[in-house]
Amino acid sequence: MEVELIIKSTWIVPVVPRATVLRDYAIIIHEKKILRILPQQEALDQYSARHIVQLDEHVLIPGLINSHCHASMALLRGAADDLPLHEWLQNRIWPLEQEFISRKFVVDGAELAIAEMIASGTTCFADMYFFPDEVAKTAISANMRVQLASPILDFPSVWAANADEYILKATQTHDQYRNSDLVSTAFGPHSLYTVSDDPLRKIRILADELDIPIHVHIHETKTEIQDSIKSFGISPLMRLKNLGLLTPRLVSVHCTHLMDHDIELLSAQGANVVHCPNSNMKLASGICNVSKLVHHGVNVALGTDGAASNNRLDMFGEMRAATLLAKVSTEDATSLPAYVALEMATIQGAKALGLEEKIGSLEPGKFADVVAVSLNDFNTLPINDPISHLVYGANSSQVSNVWIGGKSVMRHGDLLTLEKTKIINSALSWQEKIEKSESLA
Ligand SMILES: [Zn+2]
Repeated sequence: MEVELIIKSTWIVPVVPRATVLRDYAIIIHEKKILRILPQQEALDQYSARHIVQLDEHVLIPGLINSHCHASMALLRGAADDLPLHEWLQNRIWPLEQEFISRKFVVDGAELAIAEMIASGTTCFADMYFFPDEVAKTAISANMRVQLASPILDFPSVWAANADEYILKATQTHDQYRNSDLVSTAFGPHSLYTVSDDPLRKIRILADELDIPIHVHIHETKTEIQDSIKSFGISPLMRLKNLGLLTPRLVSVHCTHLMDHDIELLSAQGANVVHCPNSNMKLASGICNVSKLVHHGVNVALGTDGAASNNRLDMFGEMRAATLLAKVSTEDATSLPAYVALEMATIQGAKALGLEEKIGSLEPGKFADVVAVSLNDFNTLPINDPISHLVYGANSSQVSNVWIGGKSVMRHGDLLTLEKTKIINSALSWQEKIEKSESLA
């Protein structure tokens, strides 16, 4: 049988089945999807291909899924560092956004972010930001997979005047991309301190109707919980429960402050958590108790958050931070082994975004979102354990080749769907504007 592509690699870590390492296997790819994964000799006996790629001393993994990002904020990287969350957000980020956000800002920022993400092995990201329609166009043009969590706030912005308009625009964005391979959608109520009960009730009804996730920042700081108890008499998580939003549709981002009963609640209701370890550490927000969540069967995914609070969009860094933070915070070295960190960055991300039938593992029938990582480098030799190296040893710069839906988007380190020089020049021109900003004075 003739197929489009065969990728042969020394190692393949398909993620499903758990902790499996295949040696000298090949992936057969046809019409955007994975057809089979089988020993190289059998592959060559049974299939001929238009393209055959041979990668020695490489490991193939499913494309990494960044389950929480604000891609366009890449342009604000380094513009507000070393501040606590509320000061960072209210005194720096919001004024900067007020000054600069436009369609062009969103497109240029998203391009920069997507380039950084593809180059570091991410093939799908969940994005919460203004002008999601522009993020979608930018992603499609780069052949990048994205889930748009259309932003919803009570107050006006460049994107909408009030909660109803944000919600309307979210449903329009959904309609526009309902048949897209690359773009899926979600509702993105920013947080429980920026969205009131009425819009949250509407979001719940519409999310059920459209069968899409609800993506929200929650329990990110102690202050957020104390303020909620002052204003509503209950925690933000309880408010979500009372409003009927605590369901398997919920993508709860951060959860750095959870009591035992919160963890039991998340588990009982089947809600998902997105852990953003580097952003949480940098803003000193707290530590998400991932070990306990996992122990209670909660699906935990990983995200970078925006580059204004990370400052990288590098899922290798998140995997490493997640496992190290889990170990030191529980004083238990067996906590969150490497293969679990890799699951959080792949299949569990896909589950959180409701995309587990399509992506998240290297399995026949799924989209061929495949990343090749070279292990032939000082820091990953000898190759005693490829999964350990992916989490503890490798740098994201060891990502060599990336395919999304079977299409090659990076070959031997060169981006194929994005223009590197153009992206760098546009970032530099934004740098000049941001340097002169009154918001930073
Ligand atoms: Zn965020």
